[in-house]
Amino acid sequence: MTNSCKAEPPKADSSSNPLLVDYLPTTADAMRNFNPVDGVPKFDEIKTEHFKPAFEEAMNIHNREITDIVNNSDEPSFENTIVALDRAGIKLGEISLIFGMLSSSDLDDEMQEVQNEMMPRLEEHFNAIMLNDKLFQRVKRVYDKRNTLSLDAVDMRLLEKTYNDFVRSGALLQGADKERLMAINAELTTLNIRFGNNLLAENANFEMLLGESQVSELPEGVRNQAKEAAAAAGKSGYLFTLDKPSMIPFLTYSSDRDLRRQIYNGYLMRCNNNNKYDNKDIIKDMVRLRIEKAQLLGYKSYAHYVTDDQMAGTPEAVYTLLEEIYEPALASAKEELAAMNELFLKDHPGAKFEKSDWWYYAEQVRKQKYQLDEEAVRPYLSLDNVRRGMFYLANRLYGITFRPIAVPRYHPECSVYEVLDKDNSHIGILYIDPYPRKSKSGGAWCGNFTEQLYVDGVRKAPVVGIVCNFTPPVGDTPSLLTFDEAETMFHEFGHALHFLFADVKYRGLVDVEGDFVELPSQIMENWAFEPEIMRNYATHYKTGEIIPDNLINRIQKAALFNQGFTTLELTAAALIDMDIHSLETYPVNFDVDAFERYNLATRRGLIPEVEPRYRYTYFAHIFNGGYSAGYYFYLWAEVLDQDAFAAFKEHRDICDAELASVFRYELLAQGGQKPGMEMYRTFRGAEPNKEPMLRARGLWKEPVVVEEPATDTLPEALSTEVSRGVKLRHEQRPAETVRPFRPVDGEVNGNIKSTKRVGNNRVERPKSEN
Ligand SMILES: [Zn+2]
Repeated sequence: MTNSCKAEPPKADSSSNPLLVDYLPTTADAMRNFNPVDGVPKFDEIKTEHFKPAFEEAMNIHNREITDIVNNSDEPSFENTIVALDRAGIKLGEISLIFGMLSSSDLDDEMQEVQNEMMPRLEEHFNAIMLNDKLFQRVKRVYDKRNTLSLDAVDMRLLEKTYNDFVRSGALLQGADKERLMAINAELTTLNIRFGNNLLAENANFEMLLGESQVSELPEGVRNQAKEAAAAAGKSGYLFTLDKPSMIPFLTYSSDRDLRRQIYNGYLMRCNNNNKYDNKDIIKDMVRLRIEKAQLLGYKSYAHYVTDDQMAGTPEAVYTLLEEIYEPALASAKEELAAMNELFLKDHPGAKFEKSDWWYYAEQVRKQKYQLDEEAVRPYLSLDNVRRGMFYLANRLYGITFRPIAVPRYHPECSVYEVLDKDNSHIGILYIDPYPRKSKSGGAWCGNFTEQLYVDGVRKAPVVGIVCNFTPPVGDTPSLLTFDEAETMFHEFGHALHFLFADVKYRGLVDVEGDFVELPSQIMENWAFEPEIMRNYATHYKTGEIIPDNLINRIQKAALFNQGFTTLELTAAALIDMDIHSLETYPVNFDVDAFERYNLATRRGLIPEVEPRYRYTYFAHIFNGGYSAGYYFYLWAEVLDQDAFAAFKEHRDICDAELASVFRYELLAQGGQKPGMEMYRTFRGAEPNKEPMLRARGLWKEPVVVEEPATDTLPEALSTEVSRGVKLRHEQRPAETVRPFRPVDGEVNGNIKSTKRVGNNRVERPKSEN
């Protein structure tokens, strides 16, 4: 901290910088009269050149606020230290959120330059605060006397979380240890960036350029996309790359085995080709440093360090869940393989089925068994319909409404809505930015433009954005979504509701645990293809006809298609993430490839026809993202979302407003004010049950059945069970409980950073890319 507490002279341009304007009232009275529209960022005035000076000024303000806390001559108290720290950096938080959203949805070279320059400086800024010993000593003084302060539960949680954040950042370390931790962090940051850059380079290095005759059997959409990709690269023909939206359709529809093998092997070997982009040495260094870091901070392994402040709590709890899923998923994938192998042998007598054959033959099975053609459903899934459907659902559940409003937008394709509560009071503002463009990152995500916060005891509502890359309209045809896109829309909308409903007293308690994050989003996917919801929104874009029941039925029936494979590759990736981060000592002669093969094939019997969703050398989530020892988050949250949705299914009305109200106020509105498990138990009245999740993935095995003795006097209620000759310990769920389409991937979400840091946007990639 180099700033004095004296106010610095204002920068020449700060008064005209729209990012630095103080728009928020400071008193409760003024806040009550605040027009929420005035809280929308000034998109019509903000220019890229405003960000750097705004960041710099906001860091200065933040530093002055920290200095004021440190230099306060009063005895450290909850108010003058913990609350003051929570209030510090609001301006920096505002700018970071806007920058985070704009740089991911509208990134040009100039914006990229700002990002390259400012991100490391922000990282440094926050690290300096977390390792400011005078500041920590004040926090510790308050923490040490916490039981004498008569704090309520929320205040106590803020105090404990603040203290723990400092400790987890190394504040308790002294001298050489502290220096070493800082050096490790710096080295990890560099390795992280190098890992990502190598992966980008290897992706870019591979291309498969094909001629007309090699793509004639592919669907028109796939051909057009490949043709555009070739044109964009200044080539003629059809270009396929290792990006999943390019590779997976090729693997699915091309009958050419050699080409399938060529592209899939290119994918599997990324950054594992012993060239200058090889990631194996980087991984080894990262693993070694992470073990050292965890042990410096008092943990057995990096996985122990990461899980310690998650719902899971320990690596053992994570392994218990993953192993429970892995075994039935493996069995189920073997059955899927057997079914595909029959078709395969007809095409290739005597040949051996290979991993690159999976998608093509899975598609053959799908056509044969379920007669479901996605193209027949899309005319019912126009973007307008799906948006109407999710607004309808939110209205059924929570009584809220969405009113289009005219406010500044950062791009003309955005539509903007004011979100109103049952009594028409303001909840927040929602931007939806649906279509791809060059300046936008791939995938779909949801984040805050401005966060919910309390001003003098009055809530300021947030401004939230959903950003996607959905199929755009072509000519007279509106945007017609795929299943995956429709499901993603509901998913992101779930994150949006979580942000919009937030009613959290402190900024530091906004974030939930990482393995809880996807609960609010994933639960919404369950409603997307429920017959009674679909009948409301899925009307044919030309004829207005409501989607026919037999189509809905086929959608429902295809729900479990290929789920063994999908679950197995996801679980295998989560397992190898835990394996490498659970190491307590760095292995002698560590061989990354051999370690991966040993843990999957030798130890767990993974079949050679299936690879984990990610192999180590391109597992960006764990070596270039926020998911190290955290790839399991998706599956953990899925147990919660399926069990939570089961609560709705148990009601007569799957949109039961009373139950939804409990979900909203006890869970969504709370942010991180309570531990995730506590909120969950309050909602469900019980611990989460894994059965609905296993059922939804087709992995549920009925418990041991007990023969029912023949008798004439059985109570009426048991008659249906008797007629099946068995007595089931578990309630039989109706077939619709099964969710139609599992994400091909767990999805992401994002930067698991404290709001005091760069932002809390839920950044997601397309399911197929996760
Ligand atoms: Zn998500």
